[in-house]
Amino acid sequence: MTPAGLSMGVGTTAKRNVLISGASIAGPALAYWLHRSGFAVTVVEKAGALRDGGYPIDVRGTALEVVRRMGILPQLQDAHIDSRRCTFLNADGSEVASLTPRAVAGGVEGQDLEVHRGELTAILYTMVRDDVEFLFNDSIDTLDQSGQGVDVTLRSGQRRTFDLVVGADGMHSHTRESLFGPEDQFHRYLGYCFAIFTMPNTFGLSREVMVWNTPGKAAALYAVGDNDELHAFLNFHQPEPPLHTLRHPDAQRDLVATTFAGAGWAVPDMVNAMRDADDLFFDTAGQIRMPHWSSGRVALVGDAAYAPSFLTGQGTSLALAGAYMLANALAANRDHTVAFAAYERDMREFVAMNQALVDNGAATLFPTTARALEQRNTMLRALVTMPSATARPAHSALTLPEFAPMP
Ligand SMILES: Cc1cc2nc3c(=O)[nH]c(=O)nc-3n(C[C@H](O)[C@H](O)[C@H](O)COP(=O)(O)OP(=O)(O)OC[C@H]3O[C@@H](n4cnc5c(N)ncnc54)[C@H](O)[C@@H]3O)c2cc1C
Repeated sequence: MTPAGLSMGVGTTAKRNVLISGASIAGPALAYWLHRSGFAVTVVEKAGALRDGGYPIDVRGTALEVVRRMGILPQLQDAHIDSRRCTFLNADGSEVASLTPRAVAGGVEGQDLEVHRGELTAILYTMVRDDVEFLFNDSIDTLDQSGQGVDVTLRSGQRRTFDLVVGADGMHSHTRESLFGPEDQFHRYLGYCFAIFTMPNTFGLSREVMVWNTPGKAAALYAVGDNDELHAFLNFHQPEPPLHTLRHPDAQRDLVATTFAGAGWAVPDMVNAMRDADDLFFDTAGQIRMPHWSSGRVALVGDAAYAPSFLTGQGTSLALAGAYMLANALAANRDHTVAFAAYERDMREFVAMNQALVDNGAATLFPTTARALEQRNTMLRALVTMPSATARPAHSALTLPEFAPMP
Protein backbone atom coordinates (compact mmCIF):
# COMPACT_ATOMS: atom_id res chain seq x y z
CA MET A 1 0.00 0.00 0.00
CA THR A 2 1.30 3.44 -0.87
CA PRO A 3 1.85 5.60 2.22
CA ALA A 4 -0.66 8.42 2.59
CA GLY A 5 0.53 11.70 1.17
CA LEU A 6 2.50 10.33 -1.78
CA SER A 7 1.45 11.90 -5.02
CA MET A 8 -0.53 9.67 -7.30
CA GLY A 9 0.81 8.33 -10.55
CA VAL A 10 -0.20 9.68 -13.92
CA GLY A 11 -2.22 7.27 -16.01
CA THR A 12 -1.91 6.96 -19.73
CA THR A 13 -5.66 6.96 -20.28
CA ALA A 14 -8.00 9.92 -19.84
CA LYS A 15 -8.78 10.91 -16.27
CA ARG A 16 -12.24 9.72 -15.28
CA ASN A 17 -14.41 12.19 -13.42
CA VAL A 18 -16.82 11.38 -10.64
CA LEU A 19 -19.45 13.34 -8.77
CA ILE A 20 -20.08 12.43 -5.12
CA SER A 21 -23.24 13.68 -3.42
CA GLY A 22 -22.73 14.30 0.32
CA ALA A 23 -19.79 15.64 2.35
CA SER A 24 -20.12 13.94 5.72
CA ILE A 25 -18.15 10.70 6.29
CA ALA A 26 -18.59 8.39 3.28
CA GLY A 27 -18.34 11.24 0.73
CA PRO A 28 -14.96 12.77 1.71
CA ALA A 29 -13.47 9.31 2.47
CA LEU A 30 -14.45 8.11 -1.00
CA ALA A 31 -13.14 11.35 -2.51
CA TYR A 32 -9.77 10.71 -0.86
CA TRP A 33 -9.38 7.20 -2.26
CA LEU A 34 -10.72 8.05 -5.72
CA HIS A 35 -8.37 11.01 -6.02
CA ARG A 36 -5.52 8.71 -5.01
CA SER A 37 -6.43 6.38 -7.84
CA GLY A 38 -6.46 9.09 -10.46
CA PHE A 39 -10.06 10.32 -10.64
CA ALA A 40 -11.03 13.95 -10.94
CA VAL A 41 -13.47 14.28 -8.04
CA THR A 42 -16.27 16.75 -7.37
CA VAL A 43 -18.32 16.64 -4.16
CA VAL A 44 -21.68 18.37 -3.96
CA GLU A 45 -23.13 19.05 -0.48
CA LYS A 46 -26.61 20.36 0.20
CA ALA A 47 -25.57 22.26 3.32
CA GLY A 48 -23.80 25.61 3.04
CA ALA A 49 -20.71 24.26 4.87
CA LEU A 50 -19.50 21.06 6.50
CA ARG A 51 -22.13 19.91 8.97
CA ASP A 52 -20.98 19.83 12.55
CA GLY A 53 -22.81 18.24 15.43
CA GLY A 54 -24.38 14.92 16.25
CA TYR A 55 -23.54 12.40 18.90
CA PRO A 56 -19.96 11.16 19.07
CA ILE A 57 -19.42 8.27 16.67
CA ASP A 58 -17.32 5.09 16.86
CA VAL A 59 -14.53 3.98 14.55
CA ARG A 60 -13.81 0.32 15.12
CA GLY A 61 -12.35 -2.85 13.65
CA THR A 62 -11.84 -2.75 9.87
CA ALA A 63 -12.52 1.00 9.76
CA LEU A 64 -9.49 1.59 11.99
CA GLU A 65 -7.35 0.03 9.28
CA VAL A 66 -8.96 2.34 6.69
CA VAL A 67 -8.08 5.46 8.69
CA ARG A 68 -4.60 4.09 9.37
CA ARG A 69 -4.06 3.66 5.61
CA MET A 70 -5.31 7.22 5.11
CA GLY A 71 -2.66 8.42 7.57
CA ILE A 72 -5.19 10.02 9.94
CA LEU A 73 -5.11 7.48 12.77
CA PRO A 74 -2.87 9.67 15.01
CA GLN A 75 -5.20 12.65 14.56
CA LEU A 76 -8.19 10.54 15.48
CA GLN A 77 -6.38 9.10 18.48
CA ASP A 78 -5.79 12.69 19.64
CA ALA A 79 -9.50 13.42 19.13
CA HIS A 80 -10.62 10.29 21.01
CA ILE A 81 -13.21 11.19 23.63
CA ASP A 82 -12.54 8.43 26.12
CA SER A 83 -15.78 8.24 28.06
CA ARG A 84 -15.12 6.67 31.42
CA ARG A 85 -18.46 5.39 32.57
CA CYS A 86 -21.91 4.39 31.43
CA THR A 87 -24.47 4.35 34.23
CA PHE A 88 -27.91 2.80 33.79
CA LEU A 89 -30.77 4.10 35.90
CA ASN A 90 -34.18 2.88 37.03
CA ALA A 91 -37.40 4.83 36.52
CA ASP A 92 -36.85 6.75 39.78
CA GLY A 93 -33.22 7.61 38.92
CA SER A 94 -31.65 5.00 41.20
CA GLU A 95 -28.65 3.14 39.81
CA VAL A 96 -28.92 -0.24 38.07
CA ALA A 97 -25.26 -0.63 37.13
CA SER A 98 -22.25 1.46 36.20
CA LEU A 99 -19.94 0.02 33.53
CA THR A 100 -17.22 1.01 31.12
CA PRO A 101 -18.81 2.02 27.78
CA ARG A 102 -16.87 -0.80 26.10
CA ALA A 103 -18.42 -3.42 28.36
CA VAL A 104 -21.77 -2.34 26.93
CA ALA A 105 -20.94 -1.73 23.27
CA GLY A 106 -18.23 -4.34 22.77
CA GLY A 107 -14.88 -3.04 21.69
CA VAL A 108 -11.17 -3.11 22.17
CA GLU A 109 -9.74 -0.92 24.91
CA GLY A 110 -6.89 1.21 23.58
CA GLN A 111 -7.81 0.63 19.92
CA ASP A 112 -11.40 1.57 19.16
CA LEU A 113 -12.05 5.26 18.82
CA GLU A 114 -14.93 7.53 19.73
CA VAL A 115 -14.78 11.00 18.19
CA HIS A 116 -17.05 13.95 17.55
CA ARG A 117 -18.76 13.32 14.24
CA GLY A 118 -18.01 16.86 13.10
CA GLU A 119 -14.33 16.45 13.98
CA LEU A 120 -14.02 13.32 11.83
CA THR A 121 -15.77 15.08 8.94
CA ALA A 122 -13.40 18.04 9.29
CA ILE A 123 -10.32 15.78 9.32
CA LEU A 124 -11.52 13.94 6.20
CA TYR A 125 -12.31 17.22 4.45
CA THR A 126 -8.88 18.64 5.26
CA MET A 127 -7.32 15.57 3.63
CA VAL A 128 -8.97 16.28 0.28
CA ARG A 129 -9.99 19.92 0.04
CA ASP A 130 -6.93 20.96 -2.01
CA ASP A 131 -7.36 18.14 -4.52
CA VAL A 132 -11.11 17.81 -4.82
CA GLU A 133 -13.73 20.29 -6.00
CA PHE A 134 -16.41 20.99 -3.36
CA LEU A 135 -19.75 22.56 -4.27
CA PHE A 136 -21.55 23.56 -1.08
CA ASN A 137 -25.12 24.75 -0.92
CA ASP A 138 -26.02 22.74 -3.97
CA SER A 139 -27.38 19.31 -4.80
CA ILE A 140 -28.26 17.02 -7.67
CA ASP A 141 -31.55 17.86 -9.30
CA THR A 142 -31.64 15.36 -12.17
CA LEU A 143 -29.49 12.47 -13.38
CA ASP A 144 -29.67 11.28 -16.98
CA GLN A 145 -27.77 8.16 -17.99
CA SER A 146 -29.02 7.93 -21.56
CA GLY A 147 -25.73 9.21 -23.07
CA GLN A 148 -22.07 8.20 -22.70
CA GLY A 149 -21.82 9.36 -19.09
CA VAL A 150 -24.17 10.75 -16.48
CA ASP A 151 -25.64 14.14 -17.37
CA VAL A 152 -26.25 15.95 -14.12
CA THR A 153 -28.30 19.06 -13.50
CA LEU A 154 -27.62 20.71 -10.17
CA ARG A 155 -30.18 22.76 -8.29
CA SER A 156 -28.02 25.82 -8.90
CA GLY A 157 -28.68 25.32 -12.60
CA GLN A 158 -25.21 24.00 -13.54
CA ARG A 159 -25.19 21.14 -16.03
CA ARG A 160 -22.24 18.80 -16.16
CA THR A 161 -21.40 15.32 -17.39
CA PHE A 162 -19.56 12.79 -15.22
CA ASP A 163 -18.29 9.29 -15.92
CA LEU A 164 -19.72 8.16 -12.61
CA VAL A 165 -21.91 9.47 -9.79
CA VAL A 166 -21.93 8.20 -6.20
CA GLY A 167 -24.64 8.94 -3.64
CA ALA A 168 -23.09 9.40 -0.19
CA ASP A 169 -26.05 11.49 0.89
CA GLY A 170 -27.12 9.54 3.94
CA MET A 171 -30.09 7.56 5.17
CA HIS A 172 -32.64 9.68 3.28
CA SER A 173 -30.55 9.75 0.09
CA HIS A 174 -31.97 11.74 -2.77
CA THR A 175 -29.61 9.92 -5.15
CA ARG A 176 -31.12 6.60 -4.07
CA GLU A 177 -34.61 7.93 -4.59
CA SER A 178 -33.84 9.21 -8.11
CA LEU A 179 -32.28 5.90 -9.03
CA PHE A 180 -34.42 3.31 -7.28
CA GLY A 181 -37.61 5.08 -6.18
CA PRO A 182 -39.14 5.92 -2.80
CA GLU A 183 -37.30 5.20 0.45
CA ASP A 184 -40.07 3.09 2.01
CA GLN A 185 -39.12 0.11 -0.20
CA PHE A 186 -35.70 -0.04 1.44
CA HIS A 187 -36.29 1.42 4.88
CA ARG A 188 -36.68 -1.14 7.66
CA TYR A 189 -38.36 0.68 10.51
CA LEU A 190 -37.05 -0.59 13.86
CA GLY A 191 -39.97 0.53 16.01
CA TYR A 192 -38.34 3.55 17.68
CA CYS A 193 -38.31 7.30 17.28
CA PHE A 194 -35.64 9.50 18.77
CA ALA A 195 -34.85 13.13 19.47
CA ILE A 196 -31.28 14.41 19.86
CA PHE A 197 -30.37 17.91 21.03
CA THR A 198 -27.87 19.69 23.25
CA MET A 199 -28.65 21.20 26.64
CA PRO A 200 -26.72 22.86 29.49
CA ASN A 201 -24.72 20.52 31.72
CA THR A 202 -26.42 21.49 34.97
CA PHE A 203 -25.89 17.97 36.35
CA GLY A 204 -22.10 18.13 36.85
CA LEU A 205 -21.54 15.18 34.50
CA SER A 206 -18.07 14.62 33.10
CA ARG A 207 -16.88 12.12 30.45
CA GLU A 208 -19.79 9.80 31.07
CA VAL A 209 -23.15 8.62 29.82
CA MET A 210 -26.29 8.24 31.95
CA VAL A 211 -29.07 6.05 30.55
CA TRP A 212 -32.55 6.04 32.11
CA ASN A 213 -35.10 3.41 31.10
CA THR A 214 -38.69 2.46 31.58
CA PRO A 215 -40.31 -0.12 29.26
CA GLY A 216 -40.33 1.37 25.76
CA LYS A 217 -38.69 4.65 26.79
CA ALA A 218 -35.12 5.74 27.25
CA ALA A 219 -33.44 9.02 28.08
CA ALA A 220 -29.70 9.53 27.92
CA LEU A 221 -27.34 12.34 28.83
CA TYR A 222 -23.89 12.23 27.36
CA ALA A 223 -21.09 14.45 28.74
CA VAL A 224 -18.33 14.18 26.14
CA GLY A 225 -15.71 16.05 28.16
CA ASP A 226 -15.74 18.43 31.06
CA ASN A 227 -17.59 21.12 29.16
CA ASP A 228 -20.84 22.81 30.01
CA GLU A 229 -22.94 21.19 27.30
CA LEU A 230 -24.58 17.76 27.23
CA HIS A 231 -25.86 15.67 24.35
CA ALA A 232 -29.40 14.72 25.27
CA PHE A 233 -31.25 11.83 23.74
CA LEU A 234 -34.88 10.77 24.10
CA ASN A 235 -35.92 7.52 22.48
CA PHE A 236 -39.29 5.79 22.52
CA HIS A 237 -41.04 2.76 21.12
CA GLN A 238 -43.65 3.54 18.49
CA PRO A 239 -45.10 0.51 16.65
CA GLU A 240 -45.82 2.50 13.46
CA PRO A 241 -43.59 5.29 12.19
CA PRO A 242 -45.26 8.68 12.83
CA LEU A 243 -44.87 9.77 9.22
CA HIS A 244 -47.05 12.88 9.66
CA THR A 245 -44.67 14.33 12.28
CA LEU A 246 -41.41 13.81 10.40
CA ARG A 247 -41.58 17.11 8.54
CA HIS A 248 -43.05 19.23 11.34
CA PRO A 249 -40.70 20.21 14.19
CA ASP A 250 -43.55 21.43 16.41
CA ALA A 251 -45.41 18.12 16.02
CA GLN A 252 -42.16 16.29 16.85
CA ARG A 253 -41.72 18.30 20.04
CA ASP A 254 -45.35 17.65 21.02
CA LEU A 255 -45.05 13.92 20.39
CA VAL A 256 -41.89 13.62 22.50
CA ALA A 257 -43.33 15.77 25.32
CA THR A 258 -46.57 13.75 25.42
CA THR A 259 -44.70 10.45 25.36
CA PHE A 260 -42.43 11.43 28.27
CA ALA A 261 -45.07 13.24 30.38
CA GLY A 262 -44.81 12.17 34.02
CA ALA A 263 -41.41 10.51 33.61
CA GLY A 264 -38.90 10.65 36.48
CA TRP A 265 -35.19 11.48 36.91
CA ALA A 266 -34.00 14.40 34.76
CA VAL A 267 -36.52 13.74 32.01
CA PRO A 268 -38.77 16.79 32.71
CA ASP A 269 -35.69 19.07 32.43
CA MET A 270 -34.72 17.33 29.23
CA VAL A 271 -38.16 17.78 27.72
CA ASN A 272 -38.09 21.48 28.64
CA ALA A 273 -34.65 21.83 27.07
CA MET A 274 -35.87 20.08 23.93
CA ARG A 275 -38.66 22.65 23.61
CA ASP A 276 -36.03 25.43 23.41
CA ALA A 277 -33.31 23.54 21.54
CA ASP A 278 -32.30 25.05 18.22
CA ASP A 279 -30.44 21.88 17.17
CA LEU A 280 -33.21 19.33 17.66
CA PHE A 281 -32.80 16.32 15.39
CA PHE A 282 -35.80 13.99 15.29
CA ASP A 283 -36.04 10.81 13.23
CA THR A 284 -37.17 7.22 13.22
CA ALA A 285 -34.61 4.49 13.92
CA GLY A 286 -34.23 2.38 10.83
CA GLN A 287 -31.95 0.55 8.47
CA ILE A 288 -31.54 0.74 4.72
CA ARG A 289 -31.50 -2.66 3.05
CA MET A 290 -31.23 -2.82 -0.72
CA PRO A 291 -30.90 -5.69 -3.19
CA HIS A 292 -28.39 -3.64 -5.26
CA TRP A 293 -26.23 -0.63 -4.55
CA SER A 294 -25.80 0.61 -8.10
CA SER A 295 -27.65 1.16 -11.31
CA GLY A 296 -25.74 1.93 -14.50
CA ARG A 297 -23.04 4.49 -13.74
CA VAL A 298 -24.45 5.52 -10.38
CA ALA A 299 -23.65 3.79 -7.08
CA LEU A 300 -24.39 4.33 -3.38
CA VAL A 301 -22.06 4.23 -0.38
CA GLY A 302 -22.46 4.55 3.40
CA ASP A 303 -25.86 5.18 4.99
CA ALA A 304 -27.41 5.82 1.56
CA ALA A 305 -26.89 2.17 0.66
CA TYR A 306 -26.75 0.30 3.97
CA ALA A 307 -27.47 2.46 7.01
CA PRO A 308 -27.27 0.07 9.98
CA SER A 309 -28.88 2.54 12.47
CA PHE A 310 -27.29 4.07 15.55
CA LEU A 311 -28.31 0.99 17.53
CA THR A 312 -25.35 -0.86 16.01
CA GLY A 313 -22.86 2.01 16.47
CA GLN A 314 -21.41 0.91 13.12
CA GLY A 315 -22.72 3.54 10.66
CA THR A 316 -19.45 5.43 10.45
CA SER A 317 -17.28 2.32 10.32
CA LEU A 318 -19.38 0.88 7.49
CA ALA A 319 -19.17 4.20 5.63
CA LEU A 320 -15.37 4.30 5.92
CA ALA A 321 -14.93 0.66 4.92
CA GLY A 322 -17.47 0.99 2.09
CA ALA A 323 -15.71 4.07 0.68
CA TYR A 324 -12.42 2.17 0.63
CA MET A 325 -13.93 -0.94 -0.99
CA LEU A 326 -15.80 1.04 -3.65
CA ALA A 327 -12.75 3.14 -4.57
CA ASN A 328 -10.55 0.06 -4.60
CA ALA A 329 -12.96 -1.76 -6.93
CA LEU A 330 -13.02 1.23 -9.29
CA ALA A 331 -9.22 1.50 -9.20
CA ALA A 332 -8.87 -2.18 -10.04
CA ASN A 333 -11.51 -2.31 -12.79
CA ARG A 334 -11.88 0.31 -15.48
CA ASP A 335 -15.27 -1.15 -16.37
CA HIS A 336 -17.60 0.34 -13.78
CA THR A 337 -20.10 -2.54 -14.03
CA VAL A 338 -17.37 -4.99 -13.01
CA ALA A 339 -16.20 -2.61 -10.28
CA PHE A 340 -19.67 -2.08 -8.81
CA ALA A 341 -20.30 -5.84 -8.83
CA ALA A 342 -16.99 -6.44 -7.02
CA TYR A 343 -17.82 -3.75 -4.43
CA GLU A 344 -21.14 -5.43 -3.63
CA ARG A 345 -19.71 -8.92 -3.63
CA ASP A 346 -16.88 -8.05 -1.24
CA MET A 347 -18.84 -5.75 1.07
CA ARG A 348 -22.25 -7.33 1.45
CA GLU A 349 -21.49 -9.93 4.10
CA PHE A 350 -19.74 -7.36 6.27
CA VAL A 351 -22.77 -5.08 5.97
CA ALA A 352 -25.17 -7.91 6.84
CA MET A 353 -23.17 -8.89 9.92
CA ASN A 354 -23.12 -5.33 11.18
CA GLN A 355 -26.78 -4.66 10.44
CA ALA A 356 -27.56 -7.80 12.47
CA LEU A 357 -26.01 -6.17 15.56
CA VAL A 358 -29.13 -4.05 15.80
CA ASP A 359 -30.99 -6.61 17.89
CA ASN A 360 -28.28 -6.61 20.59
CA GLY A 361 -28.29 -2.81 20.63
CA ALA A 362 -32.06 -2.56 20.96
CA ALA A 363 -32.21 -5.22 23.69
CA THR A 364 -29.47 -3.47 25.68
CA LEU A 365 -30.44 0.14 25.28
CA PHE A 366 -34.21 0.11 24.73
CA PRO A 367 -36.11 -2.87 26.15
CA THR A 368 -39.78 -2.40 25.37
CA THR A 369 -41.44 -4.58 28.04
CA ALA A 370 -41.04 -4.75 31.83
CA ARG A 371 -39.78 -8.33 31.52
CA ALA A 372 -37.20 -7.45 28.87
CA LEU A 373 -36.05 -4.49 30.97
CA GLU A 374 -35.58 -6.70 34.04
CA GLN A 375 -33.62 -9.24 31.98
CA ARG A 376 -31.47 -6.43 30.60
CA ASN A 377 -30.80 -5.11 34.10
CA THR A 378 -29.79 -8.56 35.33
CA MET A 379 -27.39 -8.83 32.39
CA LEU A 380 -25.89 -5.39 33.16
CA ARG A 381 -25.34 -6.25 36.83
CA ALA A 382 -23.55 -9.43 35.75
CA LEU A 383 -21.35 -7.47 33.33
CA VAL A 384 -20.06 -5.31 36.21
CA THR A 385 -18.19 -8.29 37.64
CA MET A 386 -17.16 -9.84 34.30
CA PRO A 387 -13.90 -9.08 32.49
CA SER A 388 -14.11 -6.28 29.89
CA ALA A 389 -15.79 -7.22 26.65
CA THR A 390 -13.69 -7.84 23.58
CA ALA A 391 -14.42 -6.72 20.03
CA ARG A 392 -17.54 -8.02 18.35
CA PRO A 393 -16.48 -10.24 15.42
CA ALA A 394 -18.65 -8.23 13.01
CA HIS A 395 -16.52 -5.11 13.56
CA SER A 396 -13.46 -6.72 11.98
CA ALA A 397 -15.06 -9.23 9.64
CA LEU A 398 -13.77 -7.53 6.50
CA THR A 399 -10.09 -7.86 5.61
CA LEU A 400 -9.11 -4.93 3.43
CA PRO A 401 -7.33 -5.77 0.19
CA GLU A 402 -4.17 -3.84 -0.66
CA PHE A 403 -5.32 -0.75 -2.52
CA ALA A 404 -5.21 -1.48 -6.26
CA PRO A 405 -2.73 0.36 -8.47
CA MET A 406 -4.30 2.43 -11.22
CA PRO A 407 -5.59 0.30 -14.10
C1 LIG B 1 -25.46 16.56 11.10
C2 LIG B 1 -25.41 15.07 11.31
C3 LIG B 1 -25.53 14.55 12.62
C4 LIG B 1 -25.46 13.18 12.82
N1 LIG B 1 -25.57 12.70 14.10
C5 LIG B 1 -25.46 11.38 14.33
C6 LIG B 1 -25.54 10.87 15.64
O1 LIG B 1 -25.72 11.60 16.62
N2 LIG B 1 -25.43 9.52 15.84
C7 LIG B 1 -25.23 8.67 14.78
O2 LIG B 1 -25.13 7.46 14.99
N3 LIG B 1 -25.15 9.13 13.52
C8 LIG B 1 -25.26 10.46 13.27
N4 LIG B 1 -25.22 10.93 11.98
C9 LIG B 1 -25.09 9.95 10.90
C10 LIG B 1 -23.67 9.43 10.74
O3 LIG B 1 -22.83 10.46 10.35
C11 LIG B 1 -23.76 8.33 9.68
O4 LIG B 1 -24.56 7.27 10.15
C12 LIG B 1 -22.48 7.67 9.30
O5 LIG B 1 -21.35 8.38 9.67
C13 LIG B 1 -22.45 7.37 7.79
O6 LIG B 1 -22.17 8.57 7.13
P1 LIG B 1 -22.63 8.95 5.66
O7 LIG B 1 -21.56 9.88 5.16
O8 LIG B 1 -22.94 7.73 4.88
O9 LIG B 1 -24.02 9.70 5.85
P2 LIG B 1 -24.37 11.04 6.65
O10 LIG B 1 -23.43 11.24 7.76
O11 LIG B 1 -25.81 10.99 6.95
O12 LIG B 1 -24.07 12.20 5.59
C14 LIG B 1 -24.86 12.51 4.47
C15 LIG B 1 -24.38 13.86 3.93
O13 LIG B 1 -25.09 14.12 2.71
C16 LIG B 1 -25.64 15.41 2.75
N5 LIG B 1 -26.83 15.41 1.91
C17 LIG B 1 -28.06 14.91 2.21
N6 LIG B 1 -28.88 15.05 1.16
C18 LIG B 1 -28.16 15.63 0.19
C19 LIG B 1 -28.44 16.01 -1.15
N7 LIG B 1 -29.66 15.83 -1.68
N8 LIG B 1 -27.46 16.58 -1.88
C20 LIG B 1 -26.21 16.78 -1.36
N9 LIG B 1 -25.89 16.44 -0.11
C21 LIG B 1 -26.85 15.86 0.65
C22 LIG B 1 -25.90 15.67 4.21
O14 LIG B 1 -25.98 17.06 4.48
C23 LIG B 1 -24.68 15.03 4.85
O15 LIG B 1 -23.58 15.90 4.87
C24 LIG B 1 -25.29 12.29 11.71
C25 LIG B 1 -25.18 12.80 10.41
C26 LIG B 1 -25.23 14.17 10.20
C27 LIG B 1 -25.11 14.71 8.76
